[in-house]
Amino acid sequence: MTITYSIIAPIYNEYDNLPELYRRVKEVMDSTGETWELILVDDGSSDHSTSRIRELAAQDPTVRPIIFARNFGHQIAVTAGLDYSRGQAVVIIDADLQDPPEVILELAKKWKEGYEVVYAVRAERQGESWFKLLTAALFYRLIFRITDVKIPLDTGDFRLIDRQVVDVMNSMREKHRFLRGMGAWVGFKQIGVEYKREARFAGETKYPFNKMLKLALNAITGFSYFPLQVATYFGFISAGVAIIAIPLVVYGRLTGFDAFHGQATTLIAVLFFGGVQLISLGILGEYIGRIYDEVKGRPLYIVREAPKKE
Ligand code: UDP
Ligand code: MG
Repeated sequence: MTITYSIIAPIYNEYDNLPELYRRVKEVMDSTGETWELILVDDGSSDHSTSRIRELAAQDPTVRPIIFARNFGHQIAVTAGLDYSRGQAVVIIDADLQDPPEVILELAKKWKEGYEVVYAVRAERQGESWFKLLTAALFYRLIFRITDVKIPLDTGDFRLIDRQVVDVMNSMREKHRFLRGMGAWVGFKQIGVEYKREARFAGETKYPFNKMLKLALNAITGFSYFPLQVATYFGFISAGVAIIAIPLVVYGRLTGFDAFHGQATTLIAVLFFGGVQLISLGILGEYIGRIYDEVKGRPLYIVREAPKKE
């Protein structure tokens, strides 16, 4: 049997959202009159989400559970969903109903018109703190400026991807993943559809500040060398300043000009350049750590239970 739509939802402690997610996805997908599957990826939940996913799968064979051995993070959970998906079009959606399943119909419409990636753009966001809104807005703009691929602004992972593009993305096995960047990098015919991002149906965000920072670092290091180049620019600028300053200071001393005396000036210069050098080393470290993770060649995720891959 060929399946038209695969819906992928990553689940990390979403016990109270699962029944409503299933109900709304089913209602929307049944209305298309086409075949579909719902892939629920349990990303090491510590509440009772896992047993709820098993129950849903036992009741309804369109639900396919993938249960991880531990928490691997949202981007990896979605990756596993993509690996196991069978549909001609694959939809990635959050499990907390912030992305309304009804929007899938609009995404599907554009897909039928011939677009291969239809991403959902957040025209409005509800029920999120000013801090989240501000950091998210800054994040999208920073990434847009400094990365080499043009990732559409205010766009999350909620999107529909054609099978051909999914197969390309599945062949990209990088460890530190930023799916939106990968999705923009592959090309194909892409278009955005605006939608209103709702408040969470139940529960709290699973993306605290440190996880957002990690995602931002993966986005930057995965798609740009800019931080590495900053050290080069800085080096040239400070060397330039030194070349001009050295003869000036020598001249000043010879002519009795009484500036730049004492330890304070030396100390400030040493601390400043010590700081710059350590930061540059840290940036190098970010890239080297990622190279190390790639070289180790460990699997992206470990599955405890999953249906057969097809
Ligand atoms: N999620 C996950 N693993 C994690 C964190 C989050 O699978 O380590 C899932 C979560 O269950 C939800 C989606 O990723 O379905 C988006 O997370 P969340 O709603 O907490 O993020 P926010 O919308 O606040 O950015
Ligand atoms: Mg959410």
